[in-house]
Amino acid sequence: MTQTIKEKCGVFGIWGTEHAAHLCYAALFAQQHRGQESAGIAVSDDGELSAHVGMGLVPEVFAGDVLDRLTGQAGIGHNRYSTTGSSLSCNAQPLLEQYLGGQIAVGHNGNLINAQLLRRQYEQRGHLFHTSTDTEVIIHLLAAHYLDHEDPLTQAMQHLQGAYSLVFLLSDRIEAVRDPWGWRPLVLGKTDDGHPCVASETVALDAIGAEYVREIEPGEIVTLSDKGVTTRRFADPQTPSQCIFEHVYFANPSSRLFGDTVQIVRERMGEKLAGEAPVDADYVIPMPDSGRSAALGYARASGIEFREGIVPNRYVGRTFIQPTQKRRDLAVQLKLNPVAEIIDGKSIIVVDDSIVRGTTTQSKMRHLRRAGAKEIHLRISCPPITHPCYFGIDFADTDELIASTRTVDQIRDYLRVDSLHYLSLDGMLSCVSQAPDRYCTACFSGNYPIIVDKALTKLSLERHQLKMFS
Ligand code: SF4
Repeated sequence: MTQTIKEKCGVFGIWGTEHAAHLCYAALFAQQHRGQESAGIAVSDDGELSAHVGMGLVPEVFAGDVLDRLTGQAGIGHNRYSTTGSSLSCNAQPLLEQYLGGQIAVGHNGNLINAQLLRRQYEQRGHLFHTSTDTEVIIHLLAAHYLDHEDPLTQAMQHLQGAYSLVFLLSDRIEAVRDPWGWRPLVLGKTDDGHPCVASETVALDAIGAEYVREIEPGEIVTLSDKGVTTRRFADPQTPSQCIFEHVYFANPSSRLFGDTVQIVRERMGEKLAGEAPVDADYVIPMPDSGRSAALGYARASGIEFREGIVPNRYVGRTFIQPTQKRRDLAVQLKLNPVAEIIDGKSIIVVDDSIVRGTTTQSKMRHLRRAGAKEIHLRISCPPITHPCYFGIDFADTDELIASTRTVDQIRDYLRVDSLHYLSLDGMLSCVSQAPDRYCTACFSGNYPIIVDKALTKLSLERHQLKMFS
């Protein structure tokens, strides 16, 4: 992959087991790719909630005997990368609060596009906020509806606009919610001994030995409690806007997502790309690790030999997760080691999943030239990213997206490669099994499924907060 795409988060919840915290830990570990800034677990011990959250990777946050001290029979967990709000410890989730209905903890994957508006309304009524995340607004909404409605959660959800897969932990249940557009994944599972659980990705179910039951539907709330699993709806089914970029890059290849296995979709994207943009070369080389699945497909379809010509250093984290460009560039140098014996004097097809700003891709191509590549033909397994995402993936701003200001030929020249081709939009959509209108493609097409405030950034709530206190 490229550099500056930041997403998103992972959530997990499990009900009715003595080992709730340990299972949350395993699930968060499996979903570490969904966010590396912070992690947290909240548990319920006979209805009493407690939480531990911190900055860093899952093993760092839960070092020592932290897990043993998080006793409880139910728990929720969260991996975070900031899509609204800075990388601050106060924004780590699950957020644990006390409100009229008692204690509540919440973990959120996605991005609310009307959080700023809602927050302003609450602040004008005297509500206090102590984070800069959009997620805190949800607890205020719940509190506001607590006395007026028999089911405050369904009422509260109807006020939210944007992407949200949510897990709530309350004293007597877990509530798992997926927004009516279904941008972010959320699945229901069951452990060997019958305990229900929910997770962003099926890879988390695999990590705890749970079986996949089904996807939670857009607009559905699933409740896990001592009474078992129950369901209700807060929005009518509509054509969903499932994020196609989950398949392109973000999700774990082994996960089953929106009805398809990610690895298979990525291989198909590579095969399609080979058909759309063939070229003669000595080898097909994947950009580790993001381009590997598509490169396999490209090699299979083209008949050109697949070689691991770039060896990754596995001890360097995903480069796009690094918060600054300087750190990302350094991480690329540390992370990727071209194998000169394979590359020197050869024509190579390099397959990667996407290009965002182009700066890190340029640095990668420079490394390959230094290793002696005679020709570099770069193939990208999605279309050019031309628009920002407001639904939980934090691309750069529009003017920082290289494809928003340059043609493909200009990008090729900037990267100093011999040829550059992207997979077409139709080609990408032909690789997934559902109808094209069931996926969001806004970052490629500019067609946003709902109206968005283009001035919205991930720090909008922070700016609002600074204004308040200035
Ligand atoms: S804009 Fe792109 S990244 Fe964002 S939800 Fe849509 S497809 Fe996914």
